[in-house]
Amino acid sequence: MFQSAARLGRVKPSPTVALAGKVAELAAQGRDVLSLVAGEPDFDTPDHIKQAAKEAIDRGDTKYTAVDGTPALRRAIAGKFERENGLAYAPDEIIVGSGGKQVVYNALMASLSAGDEVVIPAPYWVSYPEIVLLAEGTPVIVPCAADSGFRLDPRALEAAITARTRWLILNSPANPSGAAYTRDELAALAEVLMRHPQVWILTDDIYEHLAYGGLRFATIAAVEPRLRERTLTMNGVSKTYCMTGWRIGYAGGPKPLIRAMSAIQSHSTTNAASISQAAAVAALEGPQDFIAGHVAAFERRRDKVVAGLNAVAGLTCRRPEGAFYVFPSCAALLGRRAPDGRLVATDEDFALYLLDAAGVGLVHGSAFGCPGHVRLSYAAADAKLDRALERIAAACAALA
Ligand code: PLP
Repeated sequence: MFQSAARLGRVKPSPTVALAGKVAELAAQGRDVLSLVAGEPDFDTPDHIKQAAKEAIDRGDTKYTAVDGTPALRRAIAGKFERENGLAYAPDEIIVGSGGKQVVYNALMASLSAGDEVVIPAPYWVSYPEIVLLAEGTPVIVPCAADSGFRLDPRALEAAITARTRWLILNSPANPSGAAYTRDELAALAEVLMRHPQVWILTDDIYEHLAYGGLRFATIAAVEPRLRERTLTMNGVSKTYCMTGWRIGYAGGPKPLIRAMSAIQSHSTTNAASISQAAAVAALEGPQDFIAGHVAAFERRRDKVVAGLNAVAGLTCRRPEGAFYVFPSCAALLGRRAPDGRLVATDEDFALYLLDAAGVGLVHGSAFGCPGHVRLSYAAADAKLDRALERIAAACAALA
């Protein structure tokens, strides 16, 4: 009989991936399902990036690369950090992995020992606490309320830090809330962190370019340069360049940490796909003007979805600053009954009710450590969003 590893007992599979599977299953059965579950842009990868990959294949760039990434890609990443963030990382302070997810995994596996604590503001991206648990660390979840914009309060950070704290994970703009920190808000968190030299900062900047309403993106190592020597600045091409399937993420950080991450990677995936790395060079060094068009489309959809959800009695939706998610509260609807008599007691019941009764796929907030909410991805065509909003409104009105 198969026996899984003890460490697997500590984690649960990704609920967002599981939900996407359930939605796909219903669609395969012929059900008309509108899935707003996916965490990926609905735009295609730009042609010049695809072309660079085709040329890489024809050139024979089809072999193993350096573990940390090709010199060309690490140079392109160093250029990006310098140009866009004002951060100077030498190529040997940079690592490329198979997606930002692998970069986070490598960092935590390379640094955590049993019992080490990692402060994670909630709502959080589902993989942070699970990777911490896989690495035998202890996630310390700090709830961040909707009325403080789902942002970490410096006093709450101070209270969460102990002698065992190894990392704080920051994500701005955030999945699932879409919340983003201003420069001043990051400076206030940095002030706390300056008092606790044992705490390193993993900043997940993967939604950097998807910021709206004139919000100026800021990243903590640039806001407080004295934190640079204990910050891992993580980013990737998945969201900005519509390259989720290409699997390229990267990070800049202090050399000893990068070397430790590289050791983990050298015994797992070796290197990110050579062809994807060539495509990522084209993404980072090629034309950037298409991004503004995507951002304008996302911003317009955000406004439509926020207005549509706030028009539904029982739903309350904050207008997020970035990413492509909204995270409305459904708390006022919980405790009601569906037309078939079933009780909608939790946010998970609510998400399942919307899926079964309205054919709309959303993710329940408790999957992100924030019950009473649901996450809706508006990285979807306008017509699909319009139909989904109509169905959500009708399904909520039918709850008694
Ligand atoms: N970080 C956050 C906050 C995300 O939402 C995601 C993807 O959904 C990732 C990291 C991972 O992205 P990738 O592994 O595609 O680079």
